[in-house]
Amino acid sequence: MTTVKAVRGTRDLLPPETALWNRIEATARAVFARYNFGEIRTPVFEDTALFARGVGEETDIVSKEMYTWEDRARAQSEKTQSLTLRPENTAGVVRAYIEHKLGETGQLQKLFYIGPQFRRERPQKGRYRQFSQIGAEVIGPTSSGSESPLRDAEVLEMLATLLDELGITGWTLHINSVGSAADRARYNEVLREALVPVAPRMCVDCQRRAVTNPLRVLDCKVPEDQPIIEALPKIADSLDEDSKQHFAGVIAALDAAGVPYTRNHRLVRGLDYYTRTTFEFTHGGLGAQNALLGGGRYDGLSEAIGGPKAPGIGFAMGEDRLVLTLQAQEAARPEPRHAYIAPLGEALNPAALALARELRRGGLTVELGDGNFRLKKSFEAAEKTARRIVILGEDELASGILTVKEFATGIQTKVPRSDLPAVLAAPVSA
Ligand code: ATP
Ligand code: MG
Repeated sequence: MTTVKAVRGTRDLLPPETALWNRIEATARAVFARYNFGEIRTPVFEDTALFARGVGEETDIVSKEMYTWEDRARAQSEKTQSLTLRPENTAGVVRAYIEHKLGETGQLQKLFYIGPQFRRERPQKGRYRQFSQIGAEVIGPTSSGSESPLRDAEVLEMLATLLDELGITGWTLHINSVGSAADRARYNEVLREALVPVAPRMCVDCQRRAVTNPLRVLDCKVPEDQPIIEALPKIADSLDEDSKQHFAGVIAALDAAGVPYTRNHRLVRGLDYYTRTTFEFTHGGLGAQNALLGGGRYDGLSEAIGGPKAPGIGFAMGEDRLVLTLQAQEAARPEPRHAYIAPLGEALNPAALALARELRRGGLTVELGDGNFRLKKSFEAAEKTARRIVILGEDELASGILTVKEFATGIQTKVPRSDLPAVLAAPVSA
């Protein structure tokens, strides 16, 4: 019989890697709490219309990457409905904001989420069909200050702090402003004209984009096209006064807080409701999939999905890519257990469980061996997982004095049972 395997683009996460995932999530939760964000959990599947309107019909995500199905009616009275596994979480959060009338509180809503997202992409390192995002949204009625450039800068400063606390070194923050929908429409025309003379020298994709969607030329990765693209007009020159001032406000606050950034004129989102600030954090260690996270302001999104005016800004980090980065930095080595308990002979197994229980209840991380193993095997197993081994034989049980060996130094000592928790909790002496 052929074996059933995990579906292409999905994977099992196993220990010890899952410990790293948990550490990342715990750090994110702790940082979000300090910035007064609360957690939101939205359904993993939604009405397809939400993404069609909230992400955009013409995006790659909606046009070719979604897992969509027609849900069968269970009763005559029920209609079939087109449902989709969420490819991202912002649309779901904004739907919930509208559905629960969170805007009516008048308060700025600061919401974070952690969870799986689904896109039918070509799987490769750092790109999967089920992946996890850690994200947050700051959204509210204009009166709550949701449009202020201070909110953009605060989100970026929080991200810099989060990456630092995760131990991710060498990230780069790319930032740009795409202005208002009108600014972008104007820029699109400026680009279209500028592309007329140069497009014939560009790749076939760009030749097509030059006509259908000039903004997307800026995403081109073909090396030969790069000098041409660098010489194209910049969106900064098409921004109106309000957008320019907003961006200056973001930059001034980032400078004051000492958050490093680089201005990237090519960071342009193509959707109508994306406004003003756009950003991405990249990391060189990730290769082709170098974006750790992306985000931006979306002042028109709530209205696009039928809600009230609710300006907002948010981001989504690729948790899988955070894991890859930390693994590559070797910051990911799991903490060794405090101790491995090796009973000498099967008869000592019950006493060993009792000792392990005592130590574990006292907060220590303990691996329990088995008296059926030869001592050599116990030592080998212990050295792989723990800082110290505790030998429990008949003599030790009777005298209450245990033999403890510390692997890093090779030092072997006799320890009274009552001192054991303190000795095992102590850092290695070397
Ligand atoms: P990319 O350019 O890498 O495809 P994107 O622009 O599609 O990214 P967003 O939709 O902004 O990405 O999602 C935010 C983050 O989620 C990305 O920066 C990335 O870290 C992560 N991400 C997106 N798609 C995937 C995927 N298929 N597998 C793993 N992580 C992903
Ligand atoms: Mg993508």
